[in-house]
Amino acid sequence: MAMKKAKGLIIEINRECNLNCKFCRVPKDNRRRAFKELESLLENKEMEDVVEYKEGKIKYLGISGGEPLLHPDILRILKLLSTKSDEVVLATNLTILNEKILDALKKLKNIYIQINLPSPNPSTYKKIVGKDTFSVAIKNIKKLTKEVEAYRVAINMVVCKENIDECKNMVKLCSQLNVENLRFHVNVGGNINHKDFLAKTMEAQDYALENDLPLVVRIASEKRREGIIPYITVDKQVYSDLFEAY
Ligand code: SF4
Repeated sequence: MAMKKAKGLIIEINRECNLNCKFCRVPKDNRRRAFKELESLLENKEMEDVVEYKEGKIKYLGISGGEPLLHPDILRILKLLSTKSDEVVLATNLTILNEKILDALKKLKNIYIQINLPSPNPSTYKKIVGKDTFSVAIKNIKKLTKEVEAYRVAINMVVCKENIDECKNMVKLCSQLNVENLRFHVNVGGNINHKDFLAKTMEAQDYALENDLPLVVRIASEKRREGIIPYITVDKQVYSDLFEAY
């Protein structure tokens, strides 16, 4: 039987990170992929056996880390990926955005940026990520949403013990920031009472709808299964293939 091909790829380009989130599963070291390695990976003919190509392009290519914006070749990498795929997905904590990177992101019409923002509250944020970078992240999100279409910017909130009561406030913050995509990830590891976590996140979704925020509940209702769901989402756009890849 022919193997079903993947629609896209998410590549870990480095492992270094300036933050230290409590829920992070990336081993902290300084390993990174060289630009040439990425180039040859994407040009490798064998890739076509495992990933679907259409007119020479993959549907989406994602980069994660560590923090990908720390990679010294990030500008070249973004450019390379944008020529090889219909959509480039960048997972970042957005605390080290500089003008050159902003400019590159602005120029990429096929970018989708997922920002790890674990709390709408500066002190909870600091407790979770280990650093006082909340205001930098917010300033950068504002810069980004001015320059890049709002639907291309998503906030990811991993729901954990520290922030479980902050889901509604995160919806409010996203509305103020003009971010249309908000995804709650319910952490499935450890001794977590999933019932409580799902109830809180669903409550925030209902709140988003009641208040007519630019958010629409998608996917969650189809995929919600008590205890086994790794995320639920409040999202204006449907990127179902992306979700399947996680
Ligand atoms: S920002 Fe991402 S890579 Fe860095 S510590 Fe947090 S979860 Fe890990």
